[in-house]
Amino acid sequence: MNVDRAPATRSIVFHEGRLGRPERERLLGQQGCAVWLTGLSGSGKSTIARALEAVLYDEGRLVYVLDGDNLRHGLNADLGFSPADRRENVRRTGEVAALFADAGVIAVAALISPFASDREQVRRAVGAPNFIEVYLDVPLAVCEERDPKGMYRKARAGLMAEFTGISSPYEPPASPDLVLRTAEAGVEECVQSIRRELQKRGILPAP
Ligand code: ADP
Repeated sequence: MNVDRAPATRSIVFHEGRLGRPERERLLGQQGCAVWLTGLSGSGKSTIARALEAVLYDEGRLVYVLDGDNLRHGLNADLGFSPADRRENVRRTGEVAALFADAGVIAVAALISPFASDREQVRRAVGAPNFIEVYLDVPLAVCEERDPKGMYRKARAGLMAEFTGISSPYEPPASPDLVLRTAEAGVEECVQSIRRELQKRGILPAP
């Protein structure tokens, strides 16, 4: 975990315990990491996160899904959808993902996370080798056609302000670790692509 992020103006000492990440990872028999799914609403983040969770769980891995919508019921319940609140939403969730990774868990975050600089901040918080930015590259028209939560319809009718892709921006990753085109590839195929990336990095054992 990158511990050197307290503002320089504050004298806060970081306490290390006797047991660290290597011990926890040995206990669990796996490496902690954060798989960060970013993309428009309806691009398939939650669907793929849950499918990945099920596949890895069946292989005996400890996985935890940090779903943006779910976290807005608790940790991020005080945040709205202004650019500042979206940034804070990503920052907090990124810090939680970093803690989970440090605990040895495979954290799978499913958040629109529209701003590139915020995602880069999370990469730093988690530590680059264990942060996998997965861009769900899906045309807006496909997401709108899927409209799993009926939100595009509401946004087009002017009933939802600051809706990503319609009235709020989305900055695609410049160099994501993995690109999934869910308009072309099925859920299982996308999950296997993530698995292969985790294997390539040595986070999961090679087949
Ligand atoms: P998000 O979490 O990005 O808002 P959801 O996972 O809630 O998106 O919704 C995506 C919708 O697209 C679901 O209804 C899902 O069944 C559908 N879908 C179709 N093909 C795929 C695919 N290859 N991967 C993920 N979702 C897909």
